[in-house]
Amino acid sequence: MSNHVFEIAVIGAGAAGQMGALRSVLNNKDTIVFKGDAKTNKKSRATWVSHVVNMPYTSGIPRPIGSATKSSLQWIQEESEFKDKLTVVADAVSKLSKNKDGIFEIETAKGESYQAKYVLLATGIMDMQPEIAGSIKPVLPFANKGHIDYCLRCDGHKSLNKITATIGHGAPAAWVAIMLHERYQPPELKIFTNGQEVEFSDEVTELLKLYDIKIITEAIKSIKGDPKTKMDAFILEDGTEEPVEFAFALLGQIAYNELAVQVGAEVNTKGNVVCGGKGESSVPGLYVAGDLRDTGKYQIYTAWDQAVDSVDDMDAKLRLAYREAKKAVTA
Ligand SMILES: Cc1cc2nc3c(=O)[nH]c(=O)nc-3n(C[C@H](O)[C@H](O)[C@H](O)COP(=O)(O)OP(=O)(O)OC[C@H]3O[C@@H](n4cnc5c(N)ncnc54)[C@H](O)[C@@H]3O)c2cc1C
Repeated sequence: MSNHVFEIAVIGAGAAGQMGALRSVLNNKDTIVFKGDAKTNKKSRATWVSHVVNMPYTSGIPRPIGSATKSSLQWIQEESEFKDKLTVVADAVSKLSKNKDGIFEIETAKGESYQAKYVLLATGIMDMQPEIAGSIKPVLPFANKGHIDYCLRCDGHKSLNKITATIGHGAPAAWVAIMLHERYQPPELKIFTNGQEVEFSDEVTELLKLYDIKIITEAIKSIKGDPKTKMDAFILEDGTEEPVEFAFALLGQIAYNELAVQVGAEVNTKGNVVCGGKGESSVPGLYVAGDLRDTGKYQIYTAWDQAVDSVDDMDAKLRLAYREAKKAVTA
């Protein structure tokens, strides 16, 4: 391990991580970013976002998070005057700890070690997939082509004029169906609990009835359609074919919080890291931005905003230390 101590380390290079790295470098901070590896990329939301239309400028760009990260880091490294401020590590971080001097020690999956004064953790979350015939595999081709999605704010508009379903048995599956009806009035709305008992409140049950939203409790056996072009129906265990053209899976999330937990940060019941306003966790110097933070809209633009707030707060602390050191020298 070298003795070099980076000012800011950014772990993850999805929506929040790329913005964190960019802001840090443009603040003239000695920055290291860990981009993750094939395994973390495959499991990240960033990779699954194939097409974004709810933000200006992105509608024509395939895989906009990945391509924005690539071009931002490339610009810094190849064209900007800040190239010396950025070290990019194409590996996942496997261990995070804090030493007795308050410096973060960061170890990668390949066994390399680095040190930093501040850390921005931006490892994200992943949506839980429904199991069909005991496996998530039948879902993935349809999810990959956007016939099954996870986020109302990102993709709710896709339910317009489509027979739409939510998959889940808890409040989110019911409330998303209710909101879709109130906003878009799709021709038909169905909730598939996929073999689970419903857990809906009386208020929800009444609204589902009022809006004629069908609840189907049988397990889904297979999905009919050609993922490249369209989804046609969910086939139930008893052979019934239920037409569905677009669906949301609303089964919860997996939070990639291992590094935060290793260093002792507090997490909430969903696994998100509990943070203050600027994104600092219960561990001083460890900040969290993006989907892993406990509050936010879980969108690309909010991940960006959170990353900027966090990195600017680190910058303020680093500038204060600089100011105090200067004063001490001249005193
Ligand atoms: C299907 C889908 C569609 C969506 N559509 C939209 C949309 O239209 N508009 C919108 O605003 N939002 C959309 N979202 C939400 C958006 O993707 C997230 O809000 C955003 O990606 C969160 O950014 P993040 O940086 O927190 O996580 P991510 O962007 O998922 O990035 C996480 C990064 O961390 C890395 N990583 C993980 N573990 C490690 C580790 N141990 N070491 C190093 N790196 C690690 C991963 O490789 C990845 O690069 C969508 C999400 C999904 C799933």
